[in-house]
Amino acid sequence: MQYQTTYDVIVIGGGHAGTEAALAAARMGMQTLLLTHNMDTLGQMSCNPAIGGIGKGHLVKEIDALGGVMARAADQAGIQFRTLNASKGPAVRATRAQADRLLYKAAVRTTLENQPNLVIFQQACDDLIVEQDQVKGVVTQMGLRFMAKAVVLTTGTFLGGQIHIGLQNYSGGRAGDPPSIALARRLRELPFRVDRLKTGTPPRIDARSLDFSVMQPQPGDTPLPVFSYMGSVADHPRQIPCYITYTNSKTHDVIRGGLDRSPMYSGVIEGIGPRYCPSIEDKIMRFADKDQHQIFVEPEGLTTHEVYPNGISTSLPFDVQLELVRSIKGFENAHITRPGYAIEYDFFDPRDLKQSLETKFISGLFFAGQINGTTGYEEAGAQGLLAGLNAALQVQEKSAWTPGRAQAYLGVLVDDLTTLGTKEPYRMFTSRAEYRLMLREDNADARLTSPGRELGLVCDKRWALFNQKMEQIEQERQRLRNQWIHPQHPACQAINRLLKTPLSREANLEELIRRPEINYADLVAIDGLAAASIAPAAAEQVEIQIKYQGYIERQQDEIDKQKRHELTCLPAQFDYQSVKGLSNEVIAKLNDSQPETVGQASRISGITPAAISLLLVYLKKQG
Ligand code: FAD
Repeated sequence: MQYQTTYDVIVIGGGHAGTEAALAAARMGMQTLLLTHNMDTLGQMSCNPAIGGIGKGHLVKEIDALGGVMARAADQAGIQFRTLNASKGPAVRATRAQADRLLYKAAVRTTLENQPNLVIFQQACDDLIVEQDQVKGVVTQMGLRFMAKAVVLTTGTFLGGQIHIGLQNYSGGRAGDPPSIALARRLRELPFRVDRLKTGTPPRIDARSLDFSVMQPQPGDTPLPVFSYMGSVADHPRQIPCYITYTNSKTHDVIRGGLDRSPMYSGVIEGIGPRYCPSIEDKIMRFADKDQHQIFVEPEGLTTHEVYPNGISTSLPFDVQLELVRSIKGFENAHITRPGYAIEYDFFDPRDLKQSLETKFISGLFFAGQINGTTGYEEAGAQGLLAGLNAALQVQEKSAWTPGRAQAYLGVLVDDLTTLGTKEPYRMFTSRAEYRLMLREDNADARLTSPGRELGLVCDKRWALFNQKMEQIEQERQRLRNQWIHPQHPACQAINRLLKTPLSREANLEELIRRPEINYADLVAIDGLAAASIAPAAAEQVEIQIKYQGYIERQQDEIDKQKRHELTCLPAQFDYQSVKGLSNEVIAKLNDSQPETVGQASRISGITPAAISLLLVYLKKQG
């Protein structure tokens, strides 16, 4: 029987980037092959069993709005849900779900297996077939050749992966998985800039050996948050709490005593680690004045006793790990099931990528996820989706699509990476976005579902639900604008009870909601003012749109001003020496980065507004 060896798109790696990439390409009708080391690790969480959080939750909602799997898998696997920053403004509110690792993997795998146009094959990819700077296919470890017009590489921490525990180290992609050596060697032959990064993970512990009675329980939120725009609370499995405990001065002494055998502090590890997810030894050294650090004791799932002690990532030798763990309150008799470790791996300078995540040097070759210097499942998933959809667009001979910085955190992520590059594992924060108020978790669908539908990523069901929600919002806003309350109106007494000063003139319901003392829910609870029928998510939008209208309009003005030059294209592979008046430093930076647009150029550090003016003059002269 003939074995299919030619595809439209091949995706290498079944982690968070690879699964989203493969699903996106297949949803767009491409014959897609997902080639991965091990089918049992599809969608595996290498580190903490959680999805979302500040900045990251925003990316998950955006992936969802574009039809991706991450939010739906998190809904089906989440065993403790929280809305972070719930008391702050809507821009920085973020959903986070503690996930059952096995349920999460199962949800991802089921989605992959049921996706039309998608074939999964378990094999390591050892080589790329490249002819005249165009990717043609891949070669597997067994020597099988698969051909495609586009290839997406999402190999995570596996390229040249080196695992460290104390002064011992060995090759590995992550604990229990082989590294990707042959492919790493092949990639180093290509003209990309390559460097090493490092990340780490804590030891895992058997919950039966812990004393939870001395720890502080942390239940999930009520009402239970939901990740996917298509999801509901009914999708969630049983909910269980996390717990909180702390390190103490004894823990810190143990760590300091072990630093001479730390691969990080003895110079064995050269790669730079994630600044915002530091190891416990890093925290002790960097914040020497602190006498305790918080640890979230997070269950790994509903059917296992393993817990993930979030906050004590370490690569100290095992004997030091054991002593430091047992010095923690409630952990005195802890049994470590898996030692913590650090891993060093190759990553490629993302400035060698276009905004579509296609590499600048090899046409049809896309990179997504940790290979681009990011850290985190959400950052990987978002890039994977973008690379997968752009691989599909390229096969269809259509223009690439990337959301702008004012449209999505995904746009911020890709623009930051491709413009500025990164020297340390890059993670998303709300502070990275200049238009935070526009890029809320709650409106990711309003920002991205329509483009997603046009691209062919959004199914009929999601599209129908989205349109229904948008209609409800529009109708309700109209009703609120059209319903006027006179001081003699029968509802006025109840309204006045909510107001600081009684209503003295006629006002419509929208104006009333704009007042700080009144919120939408209180107003429509008054007799005669109720909405016909509106889903809670639509009602939330109505309230946010009205309350923040002034700020939103101001931000939109800024975006419009910025847009004028944002998308002006710069020539490819251009020598900036030919632009008169630019300083040598600016020329070097622009030649190095080769920005695609004036907007991108303006965000490179050291590129002054004056330099941008010179570029604009030059472009104008060129006509
Ligand atoms: P991965 O999830 O690593 O998936 C890569 C996939 O590619 C795997 O399925 C692998 O089998 C496959 N693959 C690799 N090479 C080949 C090949 N040649 N052929 C076929 N298949 C291949 N993130 C955080 O946000 N915070 C943290 O503190 C943190 N700590 C971490 C600690 C450790 C030890 C590790 C390993 C990861 C950590 N992460 C952390 C990172 C997080 O796991 C990644 O960011 C995320 O998984 C990246 O997704 P990805 O899809 O790019 O790669």
